Amino acid sequence: MEIVRTVAELRAWSRGVRGSGGVIGLVPTMGALHAGHASLMRAARGSCAFVAVSIFVNPTQFGPSEDFARYPRTFEADCAMAEAEGVDVVFAPTVEELYPAGAATYVDVEGISDRLDGASRPGHFRGVATVVAKLLIAAEPDLAFFGQKDAAQVSILRRMVVDLRLATRIVVCPIVRERDGLALSSRNVYLSEAERTQSLALSRAIRRVEGLVASGERRASALVAAARDTFVAEPAIRVDYIALVDWTTLKPVETAATGTLLAVAAWVGATRLIDNTILE
Ligand code: AMP
Repeated sequence: MEIVRTVAELRAWSRGVRGSGGVIGLVPTMGALHAGHASLMRAARGSCAFVAVSIFVNPTQFGPSEDFARYPRTFEADCAMAEAEGVDVVFAPTVEELYPAGAATYVDVEGISDRLDGASRPGHFRGVATVVAKLLIAAEPDLAFFGQKDAAQVSILRRMVVDLRLATRIVVCPIVRERDGLALSSRNVYLSEAERTQSLALSRAIRRVEGLVASGERRASALVAAARDTFVAEPAIRVDYIALVDWTTLKPVETAATGTLLAVAAWVGATRLIDNTILE
């Protein structure tokens, strides 16, 4: 497995392997890799002849009071995991490499970027869209793999890829969870033992809504209220949002249907966690 640091090297790799005709896959990550990331690499390995993983903690998607500086960085272990998953190349640029001195170009996916996490984290999706655009332009992959864990991110990136007429198809992979239901996240390492237990309220709320939908409830107001109810037993958790939205536009719906996104974000102590489900 090769480790490259510059856009020029990544592009040269991509153009080199493209010559041999195989499908190229890219898995963008911020590192601190876990089994959720591994599932994306495995999906990429399964459908692509060549797989690149990017590891880059992207400063522009963090707000001024967020955890950019203390975000977990485990580069050696990340490379070991990537290698074990059969990844061909790890792209690990510096901030200056992706944001050259004087960088002034950003990708704004208007409207949709202000919803869900975008409402609570102003500028977050502008940072995400910008860095993913840079990665897609650099790697020129046929397929780029993302987790449903960040469902709103998927909606924004799908819009961006259409709008910019990029030649990459977005592939979405299912949420990988701990045995007890907690969605894997690089931020779970921040949780104390007590918070770890409290954090189960997120997946519990989601399962509750799925159960209600399975038994015939379709009214968004009733489903959101039931999800909110789950958190009453966990006063230490501060719910940021619980929303039932169209997965394409992220606009609220009144009636749940197949493909509707139920998204939850909550603060467990100082850690903000998200979880979701796509209703069947
Ligand atoms: P991150 O490193 O947190 O930016 O995540 C990189 C990619 O991994 C994103 O596409 C995430 O949606 C995906 N991802 C993170 N956690 C999970 C998970 N528990 N299951 C599946 N994919 C995940």
